[in-house]
This record gives sequence, structure tokens and C-alpha cells, in this order.
Amino acid sequence: MKAKDIRTQFIDFFKSKGHTYIPSSPIVVKNDPTLMFTNAGMNQFKDYILGNETPKATRVANSQKCLRVSGKHNDLEEVGVDTYHHTMFEMLGNWSFGDYFKKEAIEWAWELLTEVYKLPKDRLYVSVFGGDAGDKLGKDMEAFQLWSQIVPESRILFGNKKDNFWEMGDTGPCGPCSEIHIDLRSDAERQQVEGYTLVNNDHPQVIEIWNLVFMQFNRLADGSLKELPAKHVDTGMGFERLVRAIQAKSSNYDSDIFTPFIQFIEKKSGKQYGLDEKVDIAMRVIVDHIRAISFSIADGQLPSNNKAGYVIRRILRRAVRYGYTFLGFHKPFLYELLPLLAETFGEIFPELAAQQDFVAKVIMEEEQSFLRTLDNGLRKLDQIKEELHQSGKSVVDGKIAFELYDTYGFPLDLTSLIARENGFSVDEKGFAAEMDIQKNRSRAAAEQETGDWVIVNAEEGVEFIGYDYLESQSRIVKYRQI
Ligand code: ATP
Ligand code: MG
Ligand code: MG
Ligand code: MG
Repeated sequence: MKAKDIRTQFIDFFKSKGHTYIPSSPIVVKNDPTLMFTNAGMNQFKDYILGNETPKATRVANSQKCLRVSGKHNDLEEVGVDTYHHTMFEMLGNWSFGDYFKKEAIEWAWELLTEVYKLPKDRLYVSVFGGDAGDKLGKDMEAFQLWSQIVPESRILFGNKKDNFWEMGDTGPCGPCSEIHIDLRSDAERQQVEGYTLVNNDHPQVIEIWNLVFMQFNRLADGSLKELPAKHVDTGMGFERLVRAIQAKSSNYDSDIFTPFIQFIEKKSGKQYGLDEKVDIAMRVIVDHIRAISFSIADGQLPSNNKAGYVIRRILRRAVRYGYTFLGFHKPFLYELLPLLAETFGEIFPELAAQQDFVAKVIMEEEQSFLRTLDNGLRKLDQIKEELHQSGKSVVDGKIAFELYDTYGFPLDLTSLIARENGFSVDEKGFAAEMDIQKNRSRAAAEQETGDWVIVNAEEGVEFIGYDYLESQSRIVKYRQI
């Protein structure tokens, strides 16, 4: 079954259960000071859940573009190194806003996975909230009972608050969740160790695919929990992981979501995927990062030097450097993936196809500008490596990390990554101190520059008294308060 059809079947299945399809909201969040990027399906429904807005439909299904590279969820360091955490991924979800609750959510999840997608039942495990003394909450026996009608009890595990209790923030809606994991190890390996001892990231082939959240409580400011009058269901399933499981692959990158991109990179670099771990990681990082960068630009976040724009620039530079060092790409190459990207995702996310040329142009220019300094920066780092070796030290000085940032355009996390690859670390505190010094310097400069424009308090009135000139020849208009 192709990825495209798997996505369609998800939506169709929930439509058949009375759900309305809602398109993904942008990956870039512009109206929420607490969040730069959408990191879960629920972001666009926050106001329904908080009761600020009446939902247009009480049963909804969607495939949400998510990005987990900052804040509460930051998976960046995992990406490419493991085979199932991405920066950008699609989260399939079904929702009940004050409509159905645990019974339907659990039964439908199982029906979809085993009857529609035909995933092997004996490879699926579920986890249920195991209670929390601090919150005076017992085990979620309601969920346990429902699951035990469907799966053998030996496959139901009780999990802790960290994995099985979802909270939106310090206050607000929250509740227990129930996760579905799949054991994709070979039969031989499974015979050695029973799978259910391995859920929750103990084995790279035993992965979480779906999280069913039951919003049942409201956390008050004093920390206590109150039952919600209207209970909601929020589920999130990683599309790329689901496709990998259905296509029985041992890596998300071996599913047809990624293989055309890997093949493109193989052809372009003349290197083969699957022979050398370093090359493989570089290829995975690139085909992952190009999605994050492109979807963010298409949704209006251009690379820049601060906040969300800098997050995108950092991801882009990371990808460029992986290509440069491990695949021999010394000219812009990322932007060439755009036609394939638009073709693959054009149907579900038309905004990308519609802006394909613009996105490619932005990426190409970014690549060009970083490639101008990358080589010198890497050489500088080589020299530092030598010096550290000779002096028997293992920490890159904060000042040097700052110079790499300031002069060569190396984001701190890129310098740290390269340092790590060579068995070093970076003095991040020292880097931050240098950054502060520079900020103060530019603040002082900015104060001077604002002399070009004097903010006038109209009520008090001012009188024009002439011009003045700075050394830089910029003209200052001078006023006197009257
Ligand atoms: P994990 O424990 O694997 O990091 P999670 O518990 O952080 O996942 P949730 O917040 O429960 O993930 O998100 C719901 C689903 O989204 C997960 O069950 C998983 O299938 C998928 N998912 C989460 N993070 C990623 C990611 N970085 N890349 C791809 N899919 C992801
Ligand atoms: Mg996670
Ligand atoms: Mg998890
Ligand atoms: Mg989870």
C-alpha cells in the first residue's frame, strides 16, 4: 500500500465514523506567543478545547504538519541518527470535542490498525496510565478494561505520568493517554526477548505509533484537578511511522515517503545509501530537513537571524554542512529537491506546490550565502581540532565558537555537532557571554542610530533646530522640546 493511500484511508475511515476532514493549519504559528511552530495536531483546536470557541463539528479528522525542533518537543538531535524521529512530520488525528470518549477512540484505533491496515495483532502493544500519587489519581482502569476486551492483558502496560498523562501547560485541560506501540523486530530477535518489555524507546525497532489522549480534567492554578464538564479525545499518529509499519520496513526512510528523495541524493552524490553509516546519516538528515525548511518557507517563515527564522536557517545550514562534508556537495543542492517535494506532497499540501519556485529560490540563495563561508569555517575548526589535540584539551573555547558564528555563519548547534563528531564539546556559557557582549555593543550602536529618527511627543510640541552629521555621514534631524 502506498503512503498516499494510507493517508487517504485514515481520513476515509474516520469520515465513515462521522468525522469532518479539516486541512492542516500552517506549520508556522504567528498568533501564539508561547509557540513558534505547530508541534501537535491539537494546536489549531486549542480554543475549542479551552471552551473559547464552539467547534464547527464535534468529530474531526486531519493530517497536521508538525515541527519538533524547539521548546517542549525538540527531536533535532535524534533526526537522521535514529530512523523514526523527524523534524517535520505529519500527525494524523481524530478528535472528539465533547462527543465520543474512550470506548470509541480505543475500538476505532484498533479496528483501523488491524482490519483496515492489517497490521499484525501480535506485534502491537498498548500502554495505559498507571496512576500518580501526587495527583491522587489511580490507574486508568476504564481504558484498561476497554483494551482488555481486545488485546491480551500481557500486552497492556501501565505507564507513568511522563509517558501516559498529557497536559497542555501548567494549567488547563489534561488527562490520561494510551499509546500504541509496534514491535518490528525480526522473528528471530523477538523469540529471544519478549516485545512488551521493550516499549518506550528501548529498542529501535519497537516504536510508538499512536497516542490517544483523553482530556478528562482541568488543572487549576492551585495544582488540583477538576473533572471537565465536556470531555475530549485528541489522538496523534505519526504518519511516517505508520507507513513504515504497514510497508514492513526497518526504517521510516525505507518507506516510499522518503525513498525517491534518497535515490535523488544517491544519484547526485554518486554515493550509495546503506553502505556507510556517516553517509547514511547525512542522506537521512538532508531528506528530513528539506521538508522542514520547505514547508516552513511555504507557510511564510523565511530564514532569518532571529527567532523562528533562525530556527529555519539553523536547520538549513545543518543540512548544507552534512551534504558538504559527507556527500561532496560544494554547490547549492537542496533547492533541487523542490520539484520532487511538490509532486509528492502537492495534493495534500497544495501550498507547497503553488509556491515551489519561490521556495526553491529562497533556499538556493541561503545555500549560496552559507557556502561562501562554510569552507573557511570548517578549516578554522580543523585548525582548532589540531590545537586541542596537541594541548590535550577537549573543550572548544566560547570565543572561538562565537567567531565561527559571527564570521562564518556557524550556528552554535552546528559547531557543537561537529565538535561532538570529533570527541569535543563546546563551552556554551562562554559563547553566550560573547553573544551578550555583542548584543550590548549593537544596542549601543542602535541607540546612536535612532538619532536619525527622533520620536516626537506631539502633545508637548517640538521645534526644528537643524541638522547634525555623524562620522558615518548619516544625517540627524535635531529638534528641541518646547
Ligand atoms: P516519542 O516517544 O517517539 O518521541 P512522543 O510520545 O513524543 O513520541 P507524541 O507527542 O505522543 O509523541 O505524538 C504523537 C505521535 O506522533 C507519536 O505517537 C509518534 O507516532 C509521532 N511522533 C512524535 N514525534 C515524532 C517525530 N519527531 N517524528 C515523527 N513522528 C513523531
Ligand atoms: Mg517525543
Ligand atoms: Mg512517547
Ligand atoms: Mg506519546
